[in-house]
Amino acid sequence: MPTRRTLRGDARTPLAGEHDVLVCGASFAGLAVARELAGSGARVLVVDRYEIGERQTSACGIPTEWLRVMGLMGSHRQTFGRLVIHTPHGTSTLELPWTFSTFDYPELCRLLWEQSDASFEVATVRGRTGGTVHTDRGDLSAPMVVDALGWRRVLAAGYQPPDAPLSRGLEVHPWGVGDEMEIWIDRRYVPAGYGWSFPASDEVRVGVGSFDPRFHVKDTTVLLAEDLERDAVRYQGNWIPHKLRAATEDGIFFVGDSAGHCLPLTAEGIRTALYFGIACGRELRAVLEGHRTIAEALDLPVDICLARAFAPLARAWEVAEHLLRRRGRLVYFAGASAAGSPEAGERAGSIPVPSGARVLDVLRTPVLESAGPLVIMARQ
Ligand SMILES: Cc1cc2nc3c(=O)[nH]c(=O)nc-3n(C[C@H](O)[C@H](O)[C@H](O)COP(=O)(O)OP(=O)(O)OC[C@H]3O[C@@H](n4cnc5c(N)ncnc54)[C@H](O)[C@@H]3O)c2cc1C
Repeated sequence: MPTRRTLRGDARTPLAGEHDVLVCGASFAGLAVARELAGSGARVLVVDRYEIGERQTSACGIPTEWLRVMGLMGSHRQTFGRLVIHTPHGTSTLELPWTFSTFDYPELCRLLWEQSDASFEVATVRGRTGGTVHTDRGDLSAPMVVDALGWRRVLAAGYQPPDAPLSRGLEVHPWGVGDEMEIWIDRRYVPAGYGWSFPASDEVRVGVGSFDPRFHVKDTTVLLAEDLERDAVRYQGNWIPHKLRAATEDGIFFVGDSAGHCLPLTAEGIRTALYFGIACGRELRAVLEGHRTIAEALDLPVDICLARAFAPLARAWEVAEHLLRRRGRLVYFAGASAAGSPEAGERAGSIPVPSGARVLDVLRTPVLESAGPLVIMARQ
């Protein structure tokens, strides 16, 4: 039986103390924000309803390069160079342009936390009045507050399924081994969405995600597990946002799922939570170092449209132009252009960047540079 580490009853004493930054949520997004503030001298408090890493929130699949560049390889479980795709019409294999890996959630959280120098308290966030955050251990406030609490967006008006733009995901974690990262695009499991099997050394994460929040995935998760002759045990499920939300609202910063920072088609939200967690952390750090005011940081949108074109730069450029026509502001353009192709560089250089737009160069990694152009637009 797993032991529950989260404080209960009398151990949940009232919280006190002064803080410069309050980060609510200690998963990918919140821990990335805290990591980015390490060494700043700021008093950073991170709170979560569970101990760090206690409750896994995903199948934990990510491009391997992200683990490497962020110093998280200690959590690595298994690497895949290809994706096996099953449909009712047959099975095909896609050689991946970069490898994907599964990782151990508690270990990854522990490693991320080690990279920060913040304080942590177990507390459940119940809501907010103005700048005061209400928790089950009392009220907390800080000049800068981050909501990294996941899809529910607790520190704003909140999101309520099934009407909110949310996908549904559920998986089981049977013990066992496997060689392939596999997905199923098959109405037998879900009318709109996909099923997956992600081996992670000694366990396999088998699940189903539905873009339609009204489609319940419990029965078909069990069905997929049965079809694979795996036990439907150790459930993990949640809602997954498939639409962007404002990254700042009413004086609060939102990051990760709370800001809808999740790729809508694949429901990948880990690398985006890390990416925008780092971006948000850098905004807060700029305030702490006196480079901008809190109001300026709140005004600088990490409110992002993400478009990745895996094909040629021309395609990404079309996306960029399309978004620019829709009054977006270009803040980041990387990929083939950053990799130094002269033609690409020329085109990127000719992007009509409006005044005030900035390049948000958060993570320059080989995987980002070789993975095809990545265009990030900030809406005005
Ligand atoms: C079944 C499933 C499988 C998935 N698999 C993948 C995958 O393989 N790869 C991928 O990239 N993405 C995957 N995703 C998506 C991914 O899990 C999310 O996008 C990602 O976890 C978002 O990170 P986050 O830090 O923003 O939020 P979360 O990881 O949801 O973390 C929110 C944190 O806030 C805490 N919290 C919530 N409410 C409160 C409260 N009221 N008070 C205090 N604390 C609170 C939670 O305990 C948690 O620690 C999957 C999602 C699901 C549902």
